[in-house]
Amino acid sequence: MTEPSVLDDRPELTELHAHVGGAVNPAIMWSVAHQQGIRLPTKDYWQFVELITVSHPDKVNNLAEYDLIFRWTELIQSSPVAVERSVYEVIGGAYRKCNITTLEMRFNPMKRNREGEKDLDHIISAAIRGQDRALLEYPLMRAGLILMMDRTFPLELNAIIVEKALRYRGRGIVGIDIAGPPNPAFSYREHAGLVARAREAGLGVTIHTGEEGSVADMWEVVEYLTPDRIGHGILCAYDERLMELVARRGIVLEVCPTSNLRTRAIEDVPQLRHILTTLRAHGVPFTINTDGPEMLLTDLIREYRLLLGHGIFTDADVRASIQTAYDASFLTRGCGQ
Ligand SMILES: [Zn+2]
Repeated sequence: MTEPSVLDDRPELTELHAHVGGAVNPAIMWSVAHQQGIRLPTKDYWQFVELITVSHPDKVNNLAEYDLIFRWTELIQSSPVAVERSVYEVIGGAYRKCNITTLEMRFNPMKRNREGEKDLDHIISAAIRGQDRALLEYPLMRAGLILMMDRTFPLELNAIIVEKALRYRGRGIVGIDIAGPPNPAFSYREHAGLVARAREAGLGVTIHTGEEGSVADMWEVVEYLTPDRIGHGILCAYDERLMELVARRGIVLEVCPTSNLRTRAIEDVPQLRHILTTLRAHGVPFTINTDGPEMLLTDLIREYRLLLGHGIFTDADVRASIQTAYDASFLTRGCGQ
């Protein structure tokens, strides 16, 4: 039994941080994999579900291991038909399950083109097509796509992704991101020019950082990339000066509680409580997200219920958080138009 809460009134929700690679229902992924004729390591559906979900914190020990799971989902989504269906299903699923009416999804098109075998424009157009089809079915929804650069890609490849984001701006691409497995050799600063170009063209900027590892990366992102939002960013809760700077610049954090607990970026609920209360006390704006509801066996309502259930959030906090997410959405800000 869950306590009565503001969630019982089925408020309209906003999800800002969901990877297409982690947001498609396993049954759909199974069907897409077979449609594509992909050789999977198992012929059993339940083993497949185990393969592409993070059911327990013991399953992954860190972010690098979590990223390995994405290799499967990205392989399965590596064709125009597969990308179109994936995006289409994520949007409808979000509305039906959680009454999400503002949804941003992110993906790296270059991790879905079979290393150049498939044409990047076909992959991106397919994602947009999937989005358009779903929005026809759910006209109360708004949705946008964020193209992700990668921390393991050289600057030249990431530059191509930004160029594509610029080309498809106005057609459903609303922002850019940098994500992917941790890479000590990666320089955020080197990407400042690319990020500036995207911003000047009206695209939203969100950057994965401050999830685990060193807070120095997050400093680099805040100082040189000045993003609108940061994917995760929880590490700044341990750095007063950084929190001050983030708050002053109005950078909104996209916190993903269950994801952080499952990848061990956050050890336990008391640490989660400490982080969120510290951020709030320092005026750092943050939102609640899933990161990838299907892969992490969660959804946005469950994320809010987790915080309510542990007394980390009150009803008023949930309401405020929903509003912060709505206001911080690139769709609300007219990015990519
Ligand atoms: Zn993420």
